[in-house]
Amino acid sequence: AARARAVLAAAFGGPDDDPAADAAAAPGEDDVRVWAAPGRVNLIGEHTDYNAGLCLPIALPHRTYVALRPRTDSLVRLASAQAPGETWTARLEDVAPGEVAGWGSYVAGVAWALREHLVAQGADPASITGFDAAVDSSVPFGAGLSSSAALECSVAVALDDVAGLGLSASDAGRAVLAAASVRAENEIAGAPTGGMDQSASLRARAGHALLLDCRPGLDPVESAEQVPFDLDAAGLALLVVDTRAEHRLVDGQYAARRATCEDAARTLGLASLRDLADAVDASDDPAGTLAVSLDKLPDDVARRRVRHVVTEIGRVRELVALLREGRPGAIGPLMNASHASLRDDYEVSSVELDVAVDAARVAGALGARMTGGGFGGSAIALVRADQVEAVADAVRGAFEREGLGAPGFLLATPSAPAERVA
Ligand code: ADP
Ligand code: MG
Repeated sequence: AARARAVLAAAFGGPDDDPAADAAAAPGEDDVRVWAAPGRVNLIGEHTDYNAGLCLPIALPHRTYVALRPRTDSLVRLASAQAPGETWTARLEDVAPGEVAGWGSYVAGVAWALREHLVAQGADPASITGFDAAVDSSVPFGAGLSSSAALECSVAVALDDVAGLGLSASDAGRAVLAAASVRAENEIAGAPTGGMDQSASLRARAGHALLLDCRPGLDPVESAEQVPFDLDAAGLALLVVDTRAEHRLVDGQYAARRATCEDAARTLGLASLRDLADAVDASDDPAGTLAVSLDKLPDDVARRRVRHVVTEIGRVRELVALLREGRPGAIGPLMNASHASLRDDYEVSSVELDVAVDAARVAGALGARMTGGGFGGSAIALVRADQVEAVADAVRGAFEREGLGAPGFLLATPSAPAERVA
């Protein structure tokens, strides 16, 4: 929080209307408020969100901090500790789909989306004014841990607070902020992602995983459930391996997977693959029910993609059942099965992810899988708390032997959602 304030003071000085706090404003001054929002890891349920399926993210202790000061005009001026020496500037009225680029589009996009929300409510969009803001983050970029959502959601709670909208006070309001953050990412930053990341960052709870039901049209409050996931109490840790092989979801792979799923649902006469997953789940003969539908698909690629989505939604259900029974130590085999399905059927893993997962298991992890969209990014391993070092060492060693660049490690303790911190 102090660093975010210092970056703000260094980039833009003190408030224009307060000469005493002007350019010479000292780092750490407390006249500027600071908000923070977490990155996330998804425990299970990958590539299910855009299939109206289920996923189960947790909020990381790693967060993006934003020091923000509203302005009386519509200017947005931004600085980031992760983009030193650069500032990003736009006028709010110029922010629209296709009109802005760069990292500031994630931030200005949230202001745009909140104004759109207010207009849709018949409220005055001008309550979202311009602002000066500085961000600092401990969420690694492009690691599949959703630094983009952490950035958007920190700004969402900040703007909600300074505009006095009161949305962050309730889960229903937080669902509105999540929707605005999704619009910022999809429509202004131009990244076609589903809604999991922003819901996790805004609606997760410490000591819990967030079961998200991504069916469209669902009441937003009913779309999320808290599931107890207290790793400390169980003597467990969730080790995240950042492969540092950058994921490239904005390229064609994500769109191709999504299109294949949508085509398959159409061929099957279903609104989404979720309908098939529900039919399989309700069937006395799940494998047979799935096989009948797979037989109707035109090619092997489509069959494998659909099989992943349907079985993955089933694994989310099974994993949640284990957590509700207080058996977090028993979820390893489901994590392993999820990885195999993503690697073989959905084909979104990578050499780095497979090496991380295999090495972690050999070193004693109870289960391990890639997490996030794939093609690089991060893997997670469920390990006994006293084995964290041994598993990390084994993964580091395996990367070295395979001639891969050194991975990063962090511990994912289910943590608090976006909030004001100073
Ligand atoms: P991920 O969300 O998996 O980390 P993305 O590609 O979706 O990866 O988002 C990363 C992008 O988000 C960065 O390239 C940058 O544009 C923006 N971003 C995230 N955090 C910050 C930050 N602290 N400062 C500046 N830009 C950021
Ligand atoms: Mg992202």
